[in-house]
Amino acid sequence: MSMLRDISLAGAGQTKIEFASRRMPVLAALAERFAETKPFAGHRIAACLHVTTETANMCKALVAGGAELALCASNPLSTKDDVAASIQRDIGAEVFAIYGCDRETFYKQVQGVLDIRPTIVVDDGADLTSIIHNDYPQLLEDIIGGTEVTSTGVLRMRNMETDGALKYPVLPTNDAATKHLFDNRYGTGQNTIDGILRATNMLLAGSTVVIVGYGWCGRGVAMRARGMGANVIITEIDPIRALEAKLDGLLVMKLDDALAHGDIYVTVTGNRDVITLSHMERMKDGAVICNSGHFDVEIAVEALQKAAVDRRELRPNCVEYVLADGPRIILLAEGRLVGQSAAEAHPAEVMDMTFSTQALGVQYLIENAASMKPGVHEIPRSIENIVASAKLEAYGVTIDTLSDAQQSYLTDWRVGT
Ligand code: SAH
Repeated sequence: MSMLRDISLAGAGQTKIEFASRRMPVLAALAERFAETKPFAGHRIAACLHVTTETANMCKALVAGGAELALCASNPLSTKDDVAASIQRDIGAEVFAIYGCDRETFYKQVQGVLDIRPTIVVDDGADLTSIIHNDYPQLLEDIIGGTEVTSTGVLRMRNMETDGALKYPVLPTNDAATKHLFDNRYGTGQNTIDGILRATNMLLAGSTVVIVGYGWCGRGVAMRARGMGANVIITEIDPIRALEAKLDGLLVMKLDDALAHGDIYVTVTGNRDVITLSHMERMKDGAVICNSGHFDVEIAVEALQKAAVDRRELRPNCVEYVLADGPRIILLAEGRLVGQSAAEAHPAEVMDMTFSTQALGVQYLIENAASMKPGVHEIPRSIENIVASAKLEAYGVTIDTLSDAQQSYLTDWRVGT
């Protein structure tokens, strides 16, 4: 039984899904092919994803390909209730997602999708995977494999593998070049800025933005913040990434040293307790802090709430906390992903590549899982090439090909220099 805000919102959701679909040409073409070849027939897929127009289009492709599908939200603040209603009514998946629901309802939704007794698990953040392994091991028998769309989820699954705990093969969608080079960099880069602007309407030009973490997401946020005229400071713990930031022309320093300068702080590390109360106490008055990395654990939100002597909501997703004898700290989106919560998650154009890669990954699992050991595998290069070529074609871009002589120069060591 589905869990939705209101099924009568489906009409509005359907229009938005259709608009996104026009900007997801690779996935739309795959859906057409799947409708003919039915690669997912006989499979039950449990998915835990942001319930957005982009996810809706992937659901459409999977259902067109013959899958029975149940979907729950991977984050209560990213769910679009009208889209959820349309996925249920028009696409025919069983949907468990209500915007802004409490933690208890959120976990009920996760349990709800498991009633489908999945053969395949499509995860975002490894929540479904860890709940299945911890609480519903009886489901493991039917599961042939899974996919994981985000960096932190892949990390959790690799840790499960190291412990010998992961019981089925997983394809890490995030590790595909057609995912992280675009989704993490340009998707997070744009929607983090979008979330900050919608929540605060601050001018970025001339401000100092401190970005904690210079992975693919951090690189994207830095590039976009700089493009808007901000001074960008990077803090890192990895010497190679720090060096890269330095040679990209950014200021690199310890977070402690950045505290005197930052007007806006963005955490994009995938780790916990990155900005602590002690950091906040030393920030400038009115410093804005937000997270674009991992759930709501990167910023010490609870410690801030406990320490604050006053709290007021300045604007939606924008709350000011007053620290005694300290600065006023402005926290966006409760420390959850700001681009997903205060803006609208990644745009369709990048999710086209992510979800095409993922849908082809699911098909690959169905064809190959029998010979794959439990553990985290690699997304085959052939899938990346199919998705990149189709995306270029959709953009109307054609590229050169190697001549035979060039091909043998690259592959035959005897040809020499
Ligand atoms: N650690 C995260 C979990 C993943 S969020 C958390 O805190 O919730 C980041 C993932 O969301 C990315 O891997 C991206 O592919 C996915 N995502 C971003 N925009 C999306 C959209 N419009 N629809 C569906 N998924 C989206």
